[in-house]
Amino acid sequence: MSEHILTICYLFASVTFILGLKMLSHPLSARKGNLLAALGMTIAILATIFLYRDDETGQHLHNYGWIFGGLLIGAIIGTLAAKKVKMTAMPEMVSLFNGMGGACAALISLVEFNHLSAEITLTGITEGHAGKIVIIVLGLIIGSVSFAGSMIAWGKLNGKVKDMSFTGQNILNLAVLALAIGLGVWLVVHPDQHIIVYVILFLSLFYGVFFVMPIGGADMPVVISLLNSFTGVAAACGGFLYDNKVMLTGGILVGAAGTLLTILMCKAMNRSLLNVLIGSFGGNQAGAVSSTSSQGHYKEVSLSDAAMLMSFANKVMIVPGYGLAVAQAQHTCHELEKILSEKGVDVKYAIHPVAGRMPGHMNVLLAEADVNYEKLLEMEQANDEFKTCDVVLILGANDVVNPAAKKDPASPIYGMPILEVELAKNVIVNKRSMKPGYAGIENDLFFQPKTSMLFGDAKKVLQDLVTEIKSV
Ligand code: NDP
Repeated sequence: MSEHILTICYLFASVTFILGLKMLSHPLSARKGNLLAALGMTIAILATIFLYRDDETGQHLHNYGWIFGGLLIGAIIGTLAAKKVKMTAMPEMVSLFNGMGGACAALISLVEFNHLSAEITLTGITEGHAGKIVIIVLGLIIGSVSFAGSMIAWGKLNGKVKDMSFTGQNILNLAVLALAIGLGVWLVVHPDQHIIVYVILFLSLFYGVFFVMPIGGADMPVVISLLNSFTGVAAACGGFLYDNKVMLTGGILVGAAGTLLTILMCKAMNRSLLNVLIGSFGGNQAGAVSSTSSQGHYKEVSLSDAAMLMSFANKVMIVPGYGLAVAQAQHTCHELEKILSEKGVDVKYAIHPVAGRMPGHMNVLLAEADVNYEKLLEMEQANDEFKTCDVVLILGANDVVNPAAKKDPASPIYGMPILEVELAKNVIVNKRSMKPGYAGIENDLFFQPKTSMLFGDAKKVLQDLVTEIKSV
């Protein structure tokens, strides 16, 4: 009886994962989708703990103290970390949590290999054992690569790990991976040679570290998404191993979603995955000196002039970027939008798919401030509308409005689709200095005759703008 209830719980959980994932694709339903999938996961975990029975002994799980102790510690750490994390540090946290998933998959493989080899000592190797060892080796390699790679990505994002590459690194990496796979094949034939499983573990960890080390810092979110898909596949291996349908479904969904996200992010930057993996784009030079020479003079606009220009405009397009998130100025930005709208100005937001530091960063940021989702335009729609705008107000965005992406084949961001803000009548750029954005390159837009710089922290500038506009 309990097996049937367990199967129904797994079926229910699988359905919540699929529905939750679907709901995540729209900001209005995303929060509910997340909760729904979390509910499904909670049911799957509790059902496994209380209803699962061992096929051979017919016994339920025991060691409840260890299980609930682990769950409690994990839940406390996870809740505190998620509550405390700043929006701009979200990719770091995702990377850390993803690494934990990879480590779990690798540990499952290690534990199950020990169980299996004890069984083989008694019964001798059969065809079924060989199949299991293949899954164990796959879970071990993919999980360890995901763990080690995610830890390096986490270190890079918080600035603790610097880029490192040397000549022939890619060849060495491939050789290490090939050796790990080759030893995996050897282990299938010789499962009694226990030491091999630890050599595979070491080689996979080594590969994970050296695979991510040379990749540029700006590309870390893409790498994290790729590693996330690896973790999904490693978890699916665990599902095969335990013949656990919900683990299999969850793993496959994570694997597929991670792969799709990686492809979409590469598309949004118009770069191939290979270019991301070996291109060393961005790196630790964030905030470093520009790679191109200065384009000439830029002009500044005063707060009162900027307020006047926007108050008497018919249409204003706001372009949010990473700086808006840093300044946590989303609420003030929404206030500016409301005041301008009250004055009869048509205000919209132009959202670049890779603005900020994670996919959907600007959508989440603006949703937090209750900005009406209807006002958010995707890049293609915004590019069609810029020519009808009197003013474009850029708030802490840089790379996503850099015309070098269209005009300069030598630029590292050449080919990335950008928001074509220079089509508008006036462009006002708010940032704190003339420093480059994440790609570390200068922006020609700031030197164009249409553009005026409005220097200062986005939150302070927006607060002052709101006060000025109120008095116009
Ligand atoms: P950028 O990183 O290019 O520029 C942000 C700008 O904000 C900086 O030039 C900075 O200038 C300014 N800024 C920082 N703090 C403040 C503040 N408190 N107030 C006002 N301005 C501030 O951001 P974009 O959003 O334009 O571009 C995102 C970049 O990240 C792209 O290169 C993209 O490819 C990359 N990326 C994004 C991913 C994603 O998923 N979103 C994934 C992978 C890469 P100053 O210091 O002078 O103030």
